[in-house]
Amino acid sequence: MEKTPQLGIVTMCADKRFHRLVEEKFRELTGLGAESYWIQATAGGAPAIVENGLFTTTDYAYVHGARHMGWAGHGDTCGGYHDVSTEDMEKKTEALMALVKQKYPEATHYQIFSTNEKTEGKKV
Ligand SMILES: [Zn+2]
Repeated sequence: MEKTPQLGIVTMCADKRFHRLVEEKFRELTGLGAESYWIQATAGGAPAIVENGLFTTTDYAYVHGARHMGWAGHGDTCGGYHDVSTEDMEKKTEALMALVKQKYPEATHYQIFSTNEKTEGKKV
C-alpha cells in the first residue's frame, strides 16, 4: 500500500525573534521536513488568525492534506497585541486550541508558545 505523505501547517506571528524557532519546534514535534508544511505568519500569530477569522491559508492546507497543525503565539510584547502581557498571550494561545480542534477535526494540533527565554510546544 502506498504511504500517504504527511503534511502540515504552522501559524505564527511574523515577529523576527520567533518565526524560525517556531518552525524548528514544529518540525521537532511533528517530524515533518521543511518542505512538508505550509506556514501562515501575521502580526499577533495564531490568536490574531483565529480571532480575525483569517482561515484562508489553514483551510487551503487542510483541504490539501495538512494533518499536523501548529498554532503559535508569543509573549514579551507582540506587535499584534501591544498591551497584552506574556501571561495573557499564553492564555489566548491556549484558548484557541478548542476552536481549531473543532474546525479541523481530522488534524493533530500543536500549541506552541515563545518568550525571549524559550519556545515550547505540545500536542493538544
Ligand atoms: Zn507577535
